Order: sequence, then C-alpha cells, then structure tokens
Amino acid sequence: MTARSDRSLVIRQLTGGIAGREILRGVDLEVGPGEVHALMGPNGSGKSTLAHVLMGRPGYAATGGSAHLGPHDLLALPTWQRARAGLFLVPQYPTEVPGVSLEAAMAAALEPLEDGVVEGRLVGTRPAGLSLAGALGAEAGRVGLEARLLGRPLNVDLSGGEKKRNETVQLAVARPAIAVLDEVDSGLDIDALRQVARRVAAAREEWGLGVLAITHYRRLLDELVPDQVHVFSAGRIVETGGPELAETLERTGYAGYEPVPED
Ligand code: ADP
Ligand code: MG
Repeated sequence: MTARSDRSLVIRQLTGGIAGREILRGVDLEVGPGEVHALMGPNGSGKSTLAHVLMGRPGYAATGGSAHLGPHDLLALPTWQRARAGLFLVPQYPTEVPGVSLEAAMAAALEPLEDGVVEGRLVGTRPAGLSLAGALGAEAGRVGLEARLLGRPLNVDLSGGEKKRNETVQLAVARPAIAVLDEVDSGLDIDALRQVARRVAAAREEWGLGVLAITHYRRLLDELVPDQVHVFSAGRIVETGGPELAETLERTGYAGYEPVPED
C-alpha cells in the first residue's frame, strides 16, 4: 500500500454490503488531505453503502479489499475507533439520539485516550482558549444553526436541514482527517447549502480536511469545488474527471449508468 500521507483515505478493491448481498463491487479511491472528491451516481448504485461499510455501520460489512486512513486499517476497527482514527460521516439520514446532549456527545468524542490507538488523528484541536460550548456556539453561527437548538438532545426533533447543519457543527468541532458527506445537501435550502459548503471548504485550509462528498447536485460543488468527480455505478467507480464532469452529468443525467443489479 502506498499511503500518500498519514492522513489519506486509501480504498483498494473494496467489496461488501449487507448479509447475503454484495453491493460494493471493487471500489478504488484515494482522498488526500485538503482534497475534495465528489461521488455521483444513480439511486441504488451503492453510494450510501460505501459510506456505511467505511464507517462500520451494524449490518454492513466488507468482504474483500482494504480501507486505510493513514496507518489505520479501518476495516479491522470498531466504529468508534474508526472515528478516533479521524473518519467522520455526515449520514444521509442523521440519527436522533434522545437523552444525549450534543455537548455530552462531543465531550465524549473528544475525550483524550490513553490506548494510543488513534495516534495521528487531529480530533479535537480547536482555537486556544475556546471552551467546547464556545466552539459549538461559534460553529453553529457559521452554518446558521440557531443556538437554542444546541441544547436539544442530539438531532431530536430537528428538521432535515437543521440536522445537516447540526452534523456540520459536530464535524467542525471534531476536526477529523476525512469527512464523508452523504447527500449533505438534501434538506438544505439554498442559503443553508451555501453556508455548509463554505464551512466544509474552509476546513480544507484550516486543518487539511479531506472530503468525500456524495451528491446529486452541482450546486454543492459550486462552493465546495472538487479536485475530482467520480461516477459510481453498480457498486464501483466507473468514470473519473474534473469538476466539468459534474456539469456534464447535470445535463445528461445518469443515462447509461446502472444501479446495483438485483441478484
Ligand atoms: P445509493 O446511496 O447509491 O442510492 P444505497 O447504497 O443506499 O444506494 O443502496 C444500494 C442498494 O443496496 C439498493 O438496492 C438498496 O436497496 C440496497 N440496500 C442498501 N442497504 C440495505 C439494507 N440495509 N437492507 C436491504 N437493502 C439495502
Ligand atoms: Mg444514498
């Protein structure tokens, strides 16, 4: 394996999916620090499955290939250690967690570890002198999330757009090496989309965030300009190009590209 840096996401020939059904059919992808890669493709092509397999969502598993974040073999780690290794997922449908406040969740996520598992991660570095509550408030302001919503249990009773902003606040405070954004634009109005996209784009400069942005819309990519655009079809990347490929797809749609075939 030739990791380009100790904070690159390197995926090689990844296969996997859910029990009894192989959805990913050999994914190859590298996301380096500060890079933005867009992943576009028809409904049902396996984009969210890729995000779940990378993050280790229960019910999803890899069956072959590899995924490393720097020195860390992600597929060998439980989900929380993948997060500790610097991988952050903004899910397509963020989960509500009643009884757990945002601040408590972030405090636990950022708690220093003694097991040495996560050497090299950037998690939790924030401007000196800023408390966790202060950092959350400042980040909420940047993406237009009302401060009073920070007091709710995690994502509970938030609108679709508020959940996506809330997840972006968590991303900005956690400062991971790599963020996977699964249709972060869904549910966001145009102003919110711009704020979220600009926040993520700024993170490239602020701490070298690498981004894998799953999206159907060029609008996100107008603000979060991708280094590469990949077309995902039937469980693998079938075409790679520059930002112009997103424009072509917006014109032509995914005609000729396929979802995962039913077995
Ligand atoms: P995309 O995000 O590209 O729209 P998904 O990864 O969500 O595609 O889904 C790919 C295929 O796998 C679809 O046919 C979907 O129905 C199926 N699939 C994904 N997750 C599950 C699951 N937990 N149970 C059953 N089928 C699933
Ligand atoms: Mg999806």
